[in-house]
Amino acid sequence: MIIGIDDTDSVDGMCTTYLTAVLIEQLRGMGTIKGMPYLIRLNPNIKYKTRGNAALSLKIDANPGSQQRIMDTAVSLVDEMADVKYENTNPGIVFLSDEVMQDREFKHVLEAFMWRAIRDVLTIEDARIIIDRFDLAHQGFKNGRGLIGALAASGAAICGLPDHTYEMIAYRKPENFGTSRVIDHDSVFKADKITYPNTWDTVDIANNTVVFAPHSPDPVLFGIRGDNTQSIQQAFNMIESEKIGRTILYMTNQGTDLHLLDGHICDIIEHRSYYLTGVVLEHPRTIEGGHTFFTLAEKAGTIECSAFEPTKDFRQVVRQLMPGDRVKVYGSVQNGTLNLEKIDIIELSNQDIVQNPLCPSCGRRMKSAGHSQGFRCRRCGTSDREVSRNPVRRSITPGIYEVPPCARRHISLPLVRSSDPRAFPSR
Ligand code: ATP
Repeated sequence: MIIGIDDTDSVDGMCTTYLTAVLIEQLRGMGTIKGMPYLIRLNPNIKYKTRGNAALSLKIDANPGSQQRIMDTAVSLVDEMADVKYENTNPGIVFLSDEVMQDREFKHVLEAFMWRAIRDVLTIEDARIIIDRFDLAHQGFKNGRGLIGALAASGAAICGLPDHTYEMIAYRKPENFGTSRVIDHDSVFKADKITYPNTWDTVDIANNTVVFAPHSPDPVLFGIRGDNTQSIQQAFNMIESEKIGRTILYMTNQGTDLHLLDGHICDIIEHRSYYLTGVVLEHPRTIEGGHTFFTLAEKAGTIECSAFEPTKDFRQVVRQLMPGDRVKVYGSVQNGTLNLEKIDIIELSNQDIVQNPLCPSCGRRMKSAGHSQGFRCRRCGTSDREVSRNPVRRSITPGIYEVPPCARRHISLPLVRSSDPRAFPSR
């Protein structure tokens, strides 16, 4: 059986990953958990999300006669732990039986649903249509919006992911929930030094920040992300912190860029994420607050691209763009603007600085000698007909640049995972 769960937390506490960790413990004796639970990041632009739009699923081989008990346990736990008094918390649980998992048509439908949940915007009705059509056991609380994420996360458990990473989450002891986290920062930097690049986004070196621990009052103490479970474990063993309640290793789609669609400016839609190729139209501009913008043009349209203040030094890259530079941008479209997650500077334009010519005798710039009369040095009397053209010296090099770890979205691929030799990973 597969259990999918979503939408149990609020900004005041709880976390669906924690609920899943507790559920795994409660299910002991009712069956065997198969492999790792899945922590799936869905479309990062969904307005209903509490934080990172995560949904969870797990596979369990139920002991004979335990199926109903497993379902009852999961439903009671969500009922007990979900923060339903918060308006935007609308939990959903779905259960996929072994029989439905064998149904090829169901798998096909579920896989398509999972991709739409990662890249598109769905309705609760979209989820209910599949639930009804395949007669899936489920439980929705309040408006049941969590059924969308619960179904999508189950899709990952059945259909797999074309790319995946891991995260080990350490949870706090319940008596410490809501208090400030005690983590020795030096130990975190050391763990990162030893295990990077197999682990990533633990710290942000350029901004001297630990990024693997949340600041919200939820039960997570920290999470170590990476491509290799041994390195994650090695990093975990090096962290000095307050006493840990429990740990769980998840398989995830974090750090994969699976949310990005290959698009063209003329057909982009709000709340989706894209990579788009085009040409920089004019010099980037920075507004109050330090947010930087430029316009990207393609044959059939233009779009505003933004690097907001939290993207820190990434803005310096963006600010050095010039009209005519050919770039590929990666990011989400919100309010008609693409919020940059990465930029590939494909080709720099050949811009010339056009000036009056220099006098060959005194080295000063000549003055105009009048309309269509060329230039003359007033001191030496020398003249020239042509302006001088010098190529602009560019201080950026073509390549792929990214926002720093402190500004990264969970689902965005960190360039340290890229095999492209043109990538400049941010540390
Ligand atoms: P949690 O830890 O509870 O999962 P979160 O930040 O991950 O917190 P949720 O509280 O789950 O966000 O809220 C996201 C809501 O949006 C859920 O109800 C989920 O089912 C729904 N949702 C997720 N992806 C989509 C999508 N692509 N289209 C429409 N709704 C979605």
